[in-house]
Amino acid sequence: MDLALTEEQRAVQRTAREFAERRLAPHARARDQASTFPLDELLELANLGLLGVAVPEELGGAGAGVVAYSLAMMELARGDASVAVAVSVTNMVGELIARLGDEGQRQRHVPRLTSGAAVCGAFALSEPQAGSDPAGLTTKAERSGAGWRLTGTKQWITSGDRAGVIVVWAMTDPGAGHKGITAFLVEGGARGLTVGRLEDKMGLRGSSTAQLTFDGVEVGEDAVLGGVGGGFRLAMMALDGGRIGIASQAIGVARGALEAAIRYAGERVQFGVPIIKHQAIGNMLADAATWLDASTLMTLRAAALKESGQPFGDAAAMAKLFATEKAGLICDIALQVHGGYGYTTDFPVERACRDVRVTRIYEGTSEIQRIVIARSLLARSAAGRDGR
Ligand SMILES: Cc1cc2nc3c(=O)[nH]c(=O)nc-3n(C[C@H](O)[C@H](O)[C@H](O)COP(=O)(O)OP(=O)(O)OC[C@H]3O[C@@H](n4cnc5c(N)ncnc54)[C@H](O)[C@@H]3O)c2cc1C
Repeated sequence: MDLALTEEQRAVQRTAREFAERRLAPHARARDQASTFPLDELLELANLGLLGVAVPEELGGAGAGVVAYSLAMMELARGDASVAVAVSVTNMVGELIARLGDEGQRQRHVPRLTSGAAVCGAFALSEPQAGSDPAGLTTKAERSGAGWRLTGTKQWITSGDRAGVIVVWAMTDPGAGHKGITAFLVEGGARGLTVGRLEDKMGLRGSSTAQLTFDGVEVGEDAVLGGVGGGFRLAMMALDGGRIGIASQAIGVARGALEAAIRYAGERVQFGVPIIKHQAIGNMLADAATWLDASTLMTLRAAALKESGQPFGDAAAMAKLFATEKAGLICDIALQVHGGYGYTTDFPVERACRDVRVTRIYEGTSEIQRIVIARSLLARSAAGRDGR
């Protein structure tokens, strides 16, 4: 088993780290306080090839693979989780179209995503009444002339107000259950598409989260992604991969918080010694570092499986579940180590606690990850493949 990174993976990691330290971290507090969307930063990330790390080179991506993408996400989230989530969704949409789009769709949309011409991508699956159970979505698409007309409301759409390319899931055959769902490619600013309220969130305040209303939005037949009725399978496939991005995001936030806590514990003196010398503090930091290491290994394993074309769904669900749950605990420990100062906006750990919380909710809550993992355990057991 080779755990060494390739030169290309190290280069992507270095580029993302340098950018995050220079351009993201110094402004993360201001972005959080003013809820500023990172438009300039996304364009700079596009120039660095970081809006499509895992997207093929011929479509303008870096073609560096899923492990490199995961490493980049960790670095960007360590700098500012709000920027990282916009990058994660853009990469997910770019990968999805590159993989399942026809040649026209690939050429029309993917280079716009990787170059920043579309600013970013959006993934419009959730609805006000359909979150964990997306098969219950009610946005509908009806045949209209040579194309389709979309009507309905999407909820919680990351970068939905900014994205130039939006993948929208709609019911095309209500009698067919989840097999009646189809994915469509819709351009930002399409006629009949309105951006509703932007959520006032606990964390990730530099990321916009929009309600989108589709009031008879007309698209051509060439907007159908992955075939009529193939949308649900496509969404599940995208979310499997997306979970690697969210696990990486959680790891990046937790790593930043833990580093700050270690620094602080080495400097803060109580009872005549730096607090890191008090065993209770050292133990908390040791636990946090161990969880972070395990999360990183699990996430890179899921990324490596995906990159090599092997089944990776269980590994991604486990990585997301473990990394996001432990990241919450790590950020909480980091705040505790800072004592009262950690509870103020003067130190970045309070923002880490707020930013990291959502990683246990989006792209499948922790409860849904457990369902995915338990189902797979049952299937493996039935197939006589209990051992790994
Ligand atoms: C900041 C943010 C950004 C987001 N970005 C996007 C985006 O870009 N695109 C998009 O499509 N969506 C996005 N989402 C939506 C996100 O994916 C959903 O919030 C998530 O899937 C949960 O759905 P819900 O909020 O409707 O909660 P619900 O599904 O109503 O769940 C409520 C609670 O019930 C639990 N629960 C539900 N079903 C079960 C079950 N079967 N067993 C046990 N427990 C269960 C859940 O785990 C949760 O604890 C975003 C959400 C947030 C907060």
